[in-house]
Amino acid sequence: MALNDKILVAGGGGFIGGAFVALLRKQGYRDIRAVDIKPFPEWYQHFDDVENLSLDLNLRENCDTAAKGAVEIINLAANMGGMGFIEHNKALCMLSVLINTHLLQAALQDGSCKRFFYASSACVYNGDKQKTFEAPSLKEEDAYPALAEDGYGWEKLFSERMCRHFMEDYGLTTRVARFHNVYGPWGTWFGGREKAPAAICRKVIEAKVSGKHEIEIWGSGVQTRSFMYIDDCTEGIQKIFNSGIIEPINLGSSEAVTINQLVDMAEDIAGIKLKRNYDLSAPKGVNGRNSDNTLIQKYLKWEPSTPLRNGLEKTYRWIFDQYMARERGEAGVVREAGIVR
Ligand code: NAD
Repeated sequence: MALNDKILVAGGGGFIGGAFVALLRKQGYRDIRAVDIKPFPEWYQHFDDVENLSLDLNLRENCDTAAKGAVEIINLAANMGGMGFIEHNKALCMLSVLINTHLLQAALQDGSCKRFFYASSACVYNGDKQKTFEAPSLKEEDAYPALAEDGYGWEKLFSERMCRHFMEDYGLTTRVARFHNVYGPWGTWFGGREKAPAAICRKVIEAKVSGKHEIEIWGSGVQTRSFMYIDDCTEGIQKIFNSGIIEPINLGSSEAVTINQLVDMAEDIAGIKLKRNYDLSAPKGVNGRNSDNTLIQKYLKWEPSTPLRNGLEKTYRWIFDQYMARERGEAGVVREAGIVR
C-alpha cells in the first residue's frame, strides 16, 4: 500500500469498514473511496475528506463505478449480523456472493487493481468440529471437508474459493482473512444485527439504568467464543493484505471465554450483579469456537492481543454514552454513530 494509491473500501459505512477508513486516514492515505449501500446518515463513521459513495454493490455496474482506478480493493461489504440475524436471513446472507463476484470482475476489467482483500469468517468452519463446549481451536484446514454455517458460512467459503481462482486463473492478487467475532466502539449495539459483546453490554446498561437487575442470555451461557477488538482487526487486515499469504488465514483472538464469563466482565465493568435468565430456544450458534493462531504467528509473528476485559471496557463506555444520548433524545449523537435505521 502506498500513501497516494487509490484505495476502495467496500462496506465503508459498516463497522469494520468505517474503522478501516479511519485507520487509513490516520496513517496519511489521501485517496480513499468508501462505498456502502446505506444512506450517509446511517454510516457508522463518515469522513468528509474521503470520497463517499452510496451504491448497491450487488449490481455489476455499481462495482465498476466503485472499482474505477482503485489500486487496492478491500471488500468488507456483506449482509450480516449476529446469530439471530444469520439464522433467519440465510438467502440474504448468500446474496452477498454478488458483491464479491462483481467486485472481482470489476477489479479485473478496470485493470488498475493490484491487490484485492476479502473478509471471510470463522463461520466457514466445519460444524462437526465445533460441537464441544471446550472451545476447540480451529485451524485453517478445519474448513474441509466442508460443513459451513448454513447460508452465511457457505457464501463465505464459496467467495474464498472465487478469490483463489481469480488469482490462479487471472493473476489478480487476492488475500483472504477469516475473522472471528469482532467487537468495539462504532458498531451495531441494538436493532437485531448486534453481536454478543455489544448485546450483553447493552442489556447490562439497560438493567443498570432501569434498576431491573435481570439479564436474558441466549443459550445456556456455557458456549465458548473468542472476541477480537476492532483495532486488532484493522491492523491484522493491513498486515495480511500486504503479506505474501495466499491461503485464507484466521484473524481472531485466541482468548476463549464462555458467554457467562463475558457477562461476568460486563457486570464487573458496570459494577452490578444481575439475575440471569437463560433462553434455551434463542439462536445460539455452535457450542465452542476459538481461533488457532499458529499460522498467523508463523507468517507474521503477530496475532490479535488486546485483552477482552480492556476492549470490553472501551466498548461498554461507548455504548453507555450512545444509550444515554438516545434516552435524552439526542438524535444527532445517535445518528452520527449510524444507528438510526
Ligand atoms: P457491517 O454490517 O457493519 O458492515 C457491512 C457493510 O456492508 C454494511 O454497512 C452494509 O450496509 C454494507 N453492505 C451490505 N450490502 C451491501 C451492498 N449490496 N452494497 C454495498 N454495501 C453493502 O459488518 P462488519 O462487522 O463491518 O463486517 C464486515 C465484513 O467482515 C463482512 O464481510 C462480514 O461478513 C465480515 N465478518 C465480520 C465479523 C464480525 O464479527 N463483525 C466476523 C466475521 C466476518
